[in-house]
Amino acid sequence: MPQGHIARKRFGQNFLSDPNIIRKIITAIAPRAGEHIVEIGPGLGALTVPLLAACGHLEVVEIDRDLIARLKDTYTPEQITIHEGDALKFDFGTLPAPLRVVGNLPYNISTPLLFHFASFADHVRDMTFMLQKEVVDRMVAEPDTEAYGRLSVMLQYRFHMAHLFDVPPGAFRPAPKVTSAIVSLQPKPAAECACRDEALMARIVTAAFGQRRKTLRNTLREWLADADFAALAISPQARGETLAMHDYVRIADYVTTKAA
Ligand code: SAM
Repeated sequence: MPQGHIARKRFGQNFLSDPNIIRKIITAIAPRAGEHIVEIGPGLGALTVPLLAACGHLEVVEIDRDLIARLKDTYTPEQITIHEGDALKFDFGTLPAPLRVVGNLPYNISTPLLFHFASFADHVRDMTFMLQKEVVDRMVAEPDTEAYGRLSVMLQYRFHMAHLFDVPPGAFRPAPKVTSAIVSLQPKPAAECACRDEALMARIVTAAFGQRRKTLRNTLREWLADADFAALAISPQARGETLAMHDYVRIADYVTTKAA
């Protein structure tokens, strides 16, 4: 029972308790005075305390009312601005830019959270997160590997990413069942994310990975006939996992041009 608080599974609560790991994460973030930093899920403050010591003021988004009450008892409004509620619904565009987003994320909602953060990439300087190692592996995966999928393509389109280091279950109370990892994401300059219709690209990627065993001729038939595959120099017999992120941009741009 960390600090008298019963961890809530539904909020993905695994609290960091290893001071060496906490120090390593703060070193990776390298917070500086005057930066705009928002922490997702401050919990019992394992990262909040050292972040605050380095930067003087912090925005936090927390859903658990008991933890919010503790935060209010512990910190002044000059130290932390508390946004009560669901980070999945929070409009990060309302916070000052360029924003640094950090957090030991609730693992039960990690994928939708990553997609939500991606929609604010223009507003963000960088993001540093603790996630399940399996999710970090998927984020940075190369084509033709088991971990490669929709998450890899859509995040690689928007961010440069680096898997920094792994964190064992023993670094948390209660210990999660899986190994965790720290990942950093840097938004790419707008010129590097130049797909003409990103919503279309997202639909194409979802279809290509929806049924991994099926060929692209099958999964992308809504958009591409054999002549289109030939024009794109992509085999219709190939499967979604063989294409690189740039191939998906090419396909979406081709379909956009053809429809114009
Ligand atoms: N930062 C603390 C630490 O490292 O010890 C706690 C991390 S714990 C893995 C995840 C935190 O996110 C908890 O404080 C939890 O209450 C909070 N949380 C869970 N779901 C959330 C949501 N949808 N929006 C905002 N915070 C959430």
